[in-house]
Amino acid sequence: MITLGVESTAHTFGISLIKDSQILCNLKNVFTTEQGGLIPNEVAGHHNKIKEELLEKALQETNLKITDINIIGVSTAPGLAPCLLVGLAFTKKLSKELNIPLIPVNHCIAHLEIGKSFTKATDPILLYASGANTQIIAYEGKKYRIFGETLDLGIGNFIDTIARGFNLGFPGGPKIEELAKKSKNYITLPYNVKGMDISLSGIQTNIISKINKEKIEDLCYSLQETVFAMLVEITERAMAHCNKNELILGGGVACNKRLQEMCLEMCRERNAKLFLLENQYLVDNAAMIAITAEKMFKVKKIYKEIDIYPKQRTDQVEIFW
Ligand code: AMP
Ligand code: MG
Repeated sequence: MITLGVESTAHTFGISLIKDSQILCNLKNVFTTEQGGLIPNEVAGHHNKIKEELLEKALQETNLKITDINIIGVSTAPGLAPCLLVGLAFTKKLSKELNIPLIPVNHCIAHLEIGKSFTKATDPILLYASGANTQIIAYEGKKYRIFGETLDLGIGNFIDTIARGFNLGFPGGPKIEELAKKSKNYITLPYNVKGMDISLSGIQTNIISKINKEKIEDLCYSLQETVFAMLVEITERAMAHCNKNELILGGGVACNKRLQEMCLEMCRERNAKLFLLENQYLVDNAAMIAITAEKMFKVKKIYKEIDIYPKQRTDQVEIFW
C-alpha cells in the first residue's frame, strides 16, 4: 500500500511517499527569511507555488505514478489557517481525482507516532518542542494527554523572536545554538516553571532588554541553559507522574544538541531511555503524516467532512488506532 503524506501546518510544505511503513521519500520546502518572521498569508503563498512541483519531484525520485498512490494523509490541525487550507485543498482535489481516501492527521500526534514507529519505544513520553508548540505528551486513558506545556509562547517562536532581535533571520534556533557554543559565561535569567508548565514571555522580555548590554554569545548560552533546564524539569516531572521510563523528542528545537544532552543526562539519572530520531524526522515533515495516516487507515477506512482545526488540542483527538 502506497501512502502520500502532506504536511502544511506552518513554515514547512512537505511531501512523503511511504510503502507499508517504509519511507520511500521525505521531501520538504521550507519558507525562510533573512529578516523578519512568518506572515501566514506569505507562507501560504509559498506553499501554493511549490506544491505541484514537490509532488512531481517525489514521484520522479520514487519511480511511482500518481495512480500508484492508494491513500492520502494530510495534516489538518493544529497550525496556521492559511497554510492548513493549502494542504487541505491540494489533497482534497487529489483524493477526488484519484478516487482514494483522504485521512486527516493531527500534527502533534504525528510527531509522537513517528517516534514510536522508528524506535523500540512502546509507551513513551514525548517532549514536543517546536516553533509554535511546547508540550509534554503521553498516552493515558485512551488519549494522548498533555502533562505539561508552555503557558504563553512556543519555545521555537520564543527563540526565533530573540534571534530577530539579534538580526539573525528565521529560523533562529540553529544560529543561536552555534553562538551558544562560543560561551560558558552564564548571565542570570528568570527561571519560570509553574507546576507542570513553563512560561517564556518574561524571559524573552528580559533577554531582549539585555541585547545591547551583554555579549550575544553569552546571552545565547544563558538562554539555552535556562529554558532547556525548564523543559527538562517538567519532562522529568511528567515521567515520574505517569510512571513512564521512555522519552522521545520531537519538533525543530529537539534538533538542538545541548537539549538532547540535557535530556540524556536526566534519563540516565532515572534509569530511563532516551530515543532520538534523525533530524529530518524531528522537524516538521510529511513522513510522520503518512505514517500516522497509514496506522489510522488500517483501523478506519472512511473519513467524512474533513476540515481544518487550527487550534485543535492533542487531547481532543479520539485515538482509535
Ligand atoms: P518545527 O516547528 O518543529 O519545524 O521547528 C521549527 C523551530 O525549531 C524553529 O523555531 C527553529 O528556530 C527551531 N530550531 C531548529 N533547529 C534548532 C536548533 N538546533 N536549536 C534550537 N532551535 C531550533
Ligand atoms: Mg511540528
